Amino acid sequence: MAASSSVESVLAQISSNALGSLRRADDLWQRHRTGEIPAAIAVQTSSELLSAIDLDVVICGGTLGILVGCVLVQRGWRVAVLERGQLRGRDQEWNISRSELDVLLDLDLLTVEELEQAIATRFDAARICFEGSSEFWVKDVLNLGVDPVFLLDRLKAKFLQAGGRLLEQTAFEEAIVHPNGVTIQAGETLTARLLIDAMGYFSPIVQQIRQGKKPDSVCLVVGTCAQGFPESQTGDLFATFTPLQNQCQYFWEAFPARDGRTTYLFTYLDAHPDRPSLEDLFADYLRLLPEYQGVAIDQLTFKRALFGLFPGYRSRLRVPWNRILPIGDSSGQQSPLSFGGFGAIMRHLRRLSQGIDEALRVDLLDRSALALLQPYQPNLAVTWLFQRAMSVRMDQRVANDQINALLAAVFQEMSQLGDPVLKPFLQDVVQFSGLSQTMMWTALRHFDRVLPVIPQVGLPMLIDWLRHYANLGIYSGLDAVAGAIVASQNGIAPRLTNSQHQYYVHRWLDAWHYGAGGDYHG
Ligand SMILES: Cc1cc2nc3c(=O)[nH]c(=O)nc-3n(C[C@H](O)[C@H](O)[C@H](O)COP(=O)(O)OP(=O)(O)OC[C@H]3O[C@@H](n4cnc5c(N)ncnc54)[C@H](O)[C@@H]3O)c2cc1C
Repeated sequence: MAASSSVESVLAQISSNALGSLRRADDLWQRHRTGEIPAAIAVQTSSELLSAIDLDVVICGGTLGILVGCVLVQRGWRVAVLERGQLRGRDQEWNISRSELDVLLDLDLLTVEELEQAIATRFDAARICFEGSSEFWVKDVLNLGVDPVFLLDRLKAKFLQAGGRLLEQTAFEEAIVHPNGVTIQAGETLTARLLIDAMGYFSPIVQQIRQGKKPDSVCLVVGTCAQGFPESQTGDLFATFTPLQNQCQYFWEAFPARDGRTTYLFTYLDAHPDRPSLEDLFADYLRLLPEYQGVAIDQLTFKRALFGLFPGYRSRLRVPWNRILPIGDSSGQQSPLSFGGFGAIMRHLRRLSQGIDEALRVDLLDRSALALLQPYQPNLAVTWLFQRAMSVRMDQRVANDQINALLAAVFQEMSQLGDPVLKPFLQDVVQFSGLSQTMMWTALRHFDRVLPVIPQVGLPMLIDWLRHYANLGIYSGLDAVAGAIVASQNGIAPRLTNSQHQYYVHRWLDAWHYGAGGDYHG
């Protein structure tokens, strides 16, 4: 079967619009490759004061927005959530680790029973393996599948019950920032003190800020959920079984799902015009899937097609306006390795909701105060080097097995250092001590594999990485000192009488804590 006809025939089995959705995503990817990324005018400013402000917060985009909306409305704020479609979670589970879900209980978003119901799948252990090397196994990492349909349904009900206003089938059109509030056009006109942008990677607000700039890298992902695989209660977190091909290293993931097995193929690349389309990648996925999972395509019953394009920017998103705060995928605050945006919001929900609550209470909604809610995170910034080391430029000559050999060496060292090093890394939390030990042992024991990476990533990237690595060390030190002071004196911030000063102290403490990976608790 020709490559594109295999994609057409599998997607036709799934639904009549699956191919159309893939091709729409491909159009977007094509525009990224050719540099025709739209730069909408979504936000304007006005010096006029608003005479009345109806709401405290309008959240544009409901998928992850409803999480923050729910916390804020429960704290007594007047909140509206705008969703251009119907607010409903996708059918495909979000994979996450159990400890990351505790925040839903702590913030009273779910009861223990509801959380149990939200967890649709669990599996025992997960594998990490690279072509030509041995396997590594971990337990309790990304081994749960949360059902987005159930979760969003519960949150929606709680949001409405607590007095939140939900506007479905209502798309954000534009906003005007006034000195004392924001006007939001979305069919009707809303006024609020703060606009939260939760419209995902392709948010019109973010597109205006990025001004059509090409992303520094893109992660393309394609996959399916299907039935007919050999029975397995284990997953793959990170697997390769092919060398570099077409200047792409293919990575695979597999998870037991409620209605079958989910398998993904993903790759990191730049937005060069000659890069493959999502449809090409889907064809490669179907070609390689039988070898990966040991099953013929015609034995599978496909339930869902899954695909996405995650653009990544090394520079932090700097919002030029007051009263606007991006959260979720639009903020670009998730790991450039996993792009696990649900996991990222779970880790930051406590910090974010406390911070937004405080910003509203002390009325610090200017852009510099809000920027502290999405601070620089050296523990994520260091991972850009790893992402770069797992991708190859179109004009680069790199040995076909180089990426596999490097990854095998790094994971061998991490697994010898044990769970305290391996597990946080796999959950997108890089810590100074674990990173330093891994780098040191990898460099000492596998110098031959590390050396070729230097020309591959380039000196500027390496120097930049050293800066972030040094910052990670500094943040870890500051977090440890601040933590000890707070513990010994029952909190330094409460001693400040000025509540606006307190806001800044809290944000810096959070920035050090999260930026150092101090929020990780197994
Ligand atoms: C194939 C795939 C698998 C994934 N697996 C995982 C996983 O296992 N674990 C994990 O943690 N993450 C996973 N992710 C990532 C995760 O799904 C995202 O990070 C998460 O959905 C981001 O949520 P968001 O609300 O920020 O953005 P989005 O999911 O993009 O949602 C944006 C919301 O805004 C709405 N919207 C957009 N424009 C407007 C507008 N103009 N007006 C009003 N509303 C608007 C949209 O309808 C949507 O509801 C996966 C992603 C993909 C593509």
